Amino acid sequence: MSSAIVEQLTCPCNPGFVYRSKSTYNAHKKSKKHVAYDSKRKEEAITATRRDNEIDLMNRIIGSLTRENIKLKDENEILRKEKK
Ligand SMILES: [Zn+2]
Repeated sequence: MSSAIVEQLTCPCNPGFVYRSKSTYNAHKKSKKHVAYDSKRKEEAITATRRDNEIDLMNRIIGSLTRENIKLKDENEILRKEKK
């Protein structure tokens, strides 16, 4: 039994399609469809990074507010005991 590794020239912007040669594949890479797909993917990656950064920032704010809340509860408890 013999096996060969065959490079399949495919592109995620055109699912299920196999390009017959390197030159048709390279031509596809320069097509409007592919360029539009590529820039959309890049835009999505930038948006995802921005969103991740925003989530990180929100988590830091939550942590800070949680600590602040614990501190205020403790102070409140002290004041309540002093009042008695
Ligand atoms: Zn493509």
